[in-house]
Amino acid sequence: MTNSANASTLRLLGGKMQGLRFHGVGDLRLEELPVPDPGPGEVRIRPLAVGVCGTDAHILHGEFPAPAPVVLGHEVAGLVEAVGAEVKGFLEGDFVTVQPNTFCTVCRFCRTGREHLCPELRGYGVHANGGFAEAEVVPARIVYHLPTTLKPRVGCLAEPLSCCIHGMDKLGMQSGYTVLVLGAGMIGLMLTRLARLAGAGLIVVSEPDGLRRQDALAFGADRVVDPQDPNWKAAMEDATGGSGFDAVIDAVGSSRTFEQGVSLAARGGTILVFGVAPMQATASVRPYDIFSRELTVVGALINPFTHERAVHLLPQMGLDKLRIAAFPLAEFKQAFDMQAAGTATKVEILPQQH
Ligand SMILES: [Zn+2]
Ligand SMILES: [Zn+2]
Repeated sequence: MTNSANASTLRLLGGKMQGLRFHGVGDLRLEELPVPDPGPGEVRIRPLAVGVCGTDAHILHGEFPAPAPVVLGHEVAGLVEAVGAEVKGFLEGDFVTVQPNTFCTVCRFCRTGREHLCPELRGYGVHANGGFAEAEVVPARIVYHLPTTLKPRVGCLAEPLSCCIHGMDKLGMQSGYTVLVLGAGMIGLMLTRLARLAGAGLIVVSEPDGLRRQDALAFGADRVVDPQDPNWKAAMEDATGGSGFDAVIDAVGSSRTFEQGVSLAARGGTILVFGVAPMQATASVRPYDIFSRELTVVGALINPFTHERAVHLLPQMGLDKLRIAAFPLAEFKQAFDMQAAGTATKVEILPQQH
């Protein structure tokens, strides 16, 4: 890494950098951009690893609104490269991650401790230039130190982990709960591991892909099942003695998995809707089921005040076991293609690698 990082610094001194900018639906361009300077209260970061998130793909396909042109990338681990005036607590060379969202601070949601529900929420890498570039400038107040023992490829996962921690908060896990996780992509794996760390009595993961089922076992599942298996329902009943699951986590986000979640929850159970379903998708559930089995359905949106905890938990998550595929900026097309194909558990871009 040292050689390419040095080369990158030289280029930055020239005042230009490479950045991947969204210009409109289907139009992502690698461009030469001016290196941004940090203003008061800001730091400039040299991103080392940046996750390609479902949100990046949704923006590119016009399924999530973002103003063009803007540099995408909101799951960042990198090094502080320049510190603006009035910044305390950060020095050049610090290994850091970014909690990408900022809020208006004055609406009724912000003023009642629910910033993440702020209608004026703005994200770096969505509404303002993000991390798919050789440099990124952000306010120091949204920057967090990372343990230097972590690899950048794991450090950049603090952001999705912080969202999963919020999901666990909403789920209200208790020790000994029986847990069903639907889907074993990266989010399903993180939630499986968090459920294990939180004292789950039994964790079953349902996932059609065989490799992903192996991943789920490595991340703490007691049993894995294939939802395409005709004996699937019987396997579920066998796992819980017919009583259903105290906690069901939908880490897929579809009508089908939501309906499965409701049908497989135990009396008094909670269904966490975590995966992002298509905006138009609807599901069919009987209100009587929710009433008579006293079910709770909760959503979890982004990461209110959980990024700090994510940083502390990151070293215990075993995330170096993830199947991560990493690409230099110039190979962004391959990176987005692989993200869409789902053949790696996580796709990342390494902006300093050439
Ligand atoms: Zn993300
Ligand atoms: Zn607000």
